[in-house]
Amino acid sequence: MKKHLVLVGGGHAHMMILDNLKQIIEKGFKVTVIGPCDHHYYSGMGPGMLGGTYTREDIRFATKDVVTKQGGTFVLDRVARLDPKAREVYTESGEKVKYDVVCCNAGSYIPMDTVPGQLDNTYPVKPIEKLWEAAEKLKALFKSGETRVSVVGGGPSSAEVAGNVWQLAKEMKGPMPEIRIFARSRLMSGFPESVRSRVFSILKKRGIHIHEQAPVKEVTRDSILLDSGRTFDSDFIFMAPGVRPSTIFEVSGLPVGPDKGLLVNTYLQSVEYPEIFGGGDCIYFQDQPLNKVGVYAVRENPVLLHNVMASLEGKALVEFHPGPEYLLIFNLGGGAGVLKKKGLVFGGRLAFIIKDYIDRKFMKSFQAIEKTL
Ligand SMILES: Cc1cc2nc3c(=O)[nH]c(=O)nc-3n(C[C@H](O)[C@H](O)[C@H](O)COP(=O)(O)OP(=O)(O)OC[C@H]3O[C@@H](n4cnc5c(N)ncnc54)[C@H](O)[C@@H]3O)c2cc1C
Repeated sequence: MKKHLVLVGGGHAHMMILDNLKQIIEKGFKVTVIGPCDHHYYSGMGPGMLGGTYTREDIRFATKDVVTKQGGTFVLDRVARLDPKAREVYTESGEKVKYDVVCCNAGSYIPMDTVPGQLDNTYPVKPIEKLWEAAEKLKALFKSGETRVSVVGGGPSSAEVAGNVWQLAKEMKGPMPEIRIFARSRLMSGFPESVRSRVFSILKKRGIHIHEQAPVKEVTRDSILLDSGRTFDSDFIFMAPGVRPSTIFEVSGLPVGPDKGLLVNTYLQSVEYPEIFGGGDCIYFQDQPLNKVGVYAVRENPVLLHNVMASLEGKALVEFHPGPEYLLIFNLGGGAGVLKKKGLVFGGRLAFIIKDYIDRKFMKSFQAIEKTL
């Protein structure tokens, strides 16, 4: 019987495996990819899609087509858990898929603990594809008059989302909404002052209200309640309080890191089950905690491709080295960004132009996989 490779999620870390599916299948292996969406959306351009700089088509990758055109099987479903002893993956709809080797790139999610149930005007900043729907709703709201948009969280995705809501409203040329950010401590507290102050000043100049030391206790359909007891009426709310790795590893009883991500060794391999690999936001790298940024997911690609093949073929694995400090650029809407690379930090139009160029180039190379099939 053919050995079966199962990919959980078609995210940034699976790009090279997806690009090489035909060759993997030609070698005599069966491949199944399981994911909740026919497309994978590139997060780096998500806030830009919200602001209207990019279309949905600009920022997405046709995972299902790429898999099926190369002879693989695509299962449109969400993985609920793994049974590592039986080597089985269970989907939310109850399907069971047996594997010889499984690689997990199921990403991360936004905890919605402070939100009571499903609210039609409250959007987590992930999954990225939902930002399109949020933009459509916002446009309708902006047309109806003055609106109040709240963003819960004080990290980079919160700053990017607030800046791009501003851009979206500005381009509609109607009354500007009141946009507020609620940061638990300081805005962009995990970044050097040189970055923080630039982001702060760009957003502030546009009239975006930045509430610092303002932890949110509860979100209702039309208001934000702070720990301090203050409430802020809101017509639309974005949730950006930070991401958590996919829950599938903890519920499967697999070894996980302190953040509940799949605990992997230097081979990006489960520390207990050698046939389980993982990359991107859903893992906890045992050697050193890695930031939840797409850069690491992308850097993990060649190692994951090599190691899943080596595992199928009984060959030696290679180690993952996270690499040097990465370039950070935040898209704050209105054609402005803030760039940081080592000691170099600057804000303004050039930072956005560089990000736009890099992101479009990255997406072109990603989408080229679809076009060559
Ligand atoms: C608004 C925003 C902007 C960001 N901008 C940047 C940036 O500019 N640069 C940067 O480096 N990082 C950025 N990040 C961080 C970046 O999003 C993540 O680090 C990156 O997406 C991780 O890639 P991933 O493939 O692991 O996860 P994801 O991009 O989350 O992909 C996971 C994939 O798995 C699928 N999936 C999810 N759950 C399941 C399941 N249960 N079963 C099967 N499949 C599943 C999803 O559909 C998705 O296709 C940003 C994050 C946000 C929220």
